[in-house]
Amino acid sequence: MKGLVLGGGLAGTLAAAALASHCDSVVIVERDRMPSDPEPRKGVPQGRHVHNLMSSGARAIDDLLPGTIDALEAAGGQRIDVPRRFVSYVLGTWNRRYPSNQTFVSASRPLLDFTVRQQAFSSGQVELIEGTDVVGLTGGADRVTGAVVRDRESRQTLELTADFVVDATGRSTATPGWLTDLGLPAVPEERFGVGVGYASRTFQSPPGTDPSFPVVNIASEPRLDRYSRGGVLMPVEDGKWIVTVAGLPGGEPPTDEAGFMAYARSLSHPLLADLMAGASPLGPVFGHRTADNRRLRYDLVQPWPEGFVVVGDAASAFNPVYGHGMSVAARNALSIRNGLRRHGDAAGVARIIQASVTAGGLDAWQLAVGQDLRSQQRLEGRTPDLKSRLLYAYGDRMARVARGRQDLFALQLDVYTLSSPTSRVFSPRAVLATLLGPVDPPLAEPPFTAAEQSALAY
Ligand SMILES: Cc1cc2nc3c(=O)[nH]c(=O)nc-3n(C[C@H](O)[C@H](O)[C@H](O)COP(=O)(O)OP(=O)(O)OC[C@H]3O[C@@H](n4cnc5c(N)ncnc54)[C@H](O)[C@@H]3O)c2cc1C
Repeated sequence: MKGLVLGGGLAGTLAAAALASHCDSVVIVERDRMPSDPEPRKGVPQGRHVHNLMSSGARAIDDLLPGTIDALEAAGGQRIDVPRRFVSYVLGTWNRRYPSNQTFVSASRPLLDFTVRQQAFSSGQVELIEGTDVVGLTGGADRVTGAVVRDRESRQTLELTADFVVDATGRSTATPGWLTDLGLPAVPEERFGVGVGYASRTFQSPPGTDPSFPVVNIASEPRLDRYSRGGVLMPVEDGKWIVTVAGLPGGEPPTDEAGFMAYARSLSHPLLADLMAGASPLGPVFGHRTADNRRLRYDLVQPWPEGFVVVGDAASAFNPVYGHGMSVAARNALSIRNGLRRHGDAAGVARIIQASVTAGGLDAWQLAVGQDLRSQQRLEGRTPDLKSRLLYAYGDRMARVARGRQDLFALQLDVYTLSSPTSRVFSPRAVLATLLGPVDPPLAEPPFTAAEQSALAY
């Protein structure tokens, strides 16, 4: 059996690893030429910005490609236990650094992609055709049989055939049009949100900085700030920090050095600016404008062709400030592997896998759309209805109580890292803990250890 993957980003590489467990050979077709080192590339422009891989995504990657997170760590990536290595400012208070129940995997995006690629290609089963555009699908409404591809240099066009084809070409996917060309109905699309402006800069942390320096987060506060501006500092490989700040349209961060710093200082707490002041910049400030949340409901298309599945951002793309896209892409690959393992080549397997892909992104979708609705209402000066106001008040209280209540903080992190369903925030335990209030008094100062504090002394 032959597998074909369109797009060699994270979702495509993981999908190829999933197909390799079922196919004799797998080919990935990618527009870019892949760097031979962990370097940024054109097809992943977001790679300059903070990329936090949630524990659920890390577990899924290790399930598909055992040893990948260890390999990433050996290359300098960090497994950041949270909340122990987490300093966050939300609604005017700092969290307590309770014992950890979840992990953020932190590395620059190029290092993460490079490591996953090396692991996926190590079996020898996966082949890469690079510098090549996918320009269409072949087959018919009942089965996709391959793709038409065009070499970017020679402009030569070629038809590749396969028994199973996966589209992982990201947000710019052309699959809805290609499917209608094959005679299938239009793909229902859901969109929500207004997009976010990002700006990021990489720094060398000050000399002597504690190697286990925490993630520092200044959360956006739609309640107080029309533009929901916030920022995060992630420690990555080689003692570097990536600092990303973001805000809604009208409140996007500037990309000049002074403006970037001033923006960080203007957040609800100036800590990120204080930390950057003591660190050494390693390059310019990079900007990025992200699009809205978008889901293509391939699971609703009837009939669905055999031998074809769409994954990653090509299927569901979320507001990146919540950090869920890569974890959902990893889950999508597990849906492919498990679907093929369970159902083999039975008729309808692609439809079953596509339904599982949509289900795998549902939590991330609900979290993103729920949060963005509030931000958008605030941005547009609209008064939320009563139900929304009650939900927001509950969410704010939960966030505030969790700062000083270990069980609730752990529950929030389980949900945030997509390790537990979102419905858990309304479980009797969560409601009771939220009503009972904090166990430990609120903290007025960032909870740094003495060793970490030295990063501020410069
Ligand atoms: C600013 C920003 C910050 C983010 N931060 C986080 C985070 O902290 N945590 C997280 O989990 N996620 C984050 N994300 C989301 C994450 O980047 C995406 O979810 C993830 O990269 C999706 O991977 P993908 O492979 O589906 O798509 P992509 O990364 O877009 O890859 C698609 C690939 O397909 C190739 N391609 C496209 N069209 C063609 C074609 N026609 N022919 C051949 N090749 C083609 C492209 O070159 C590319 O290599 C962030 C996103 C942004 C924009």
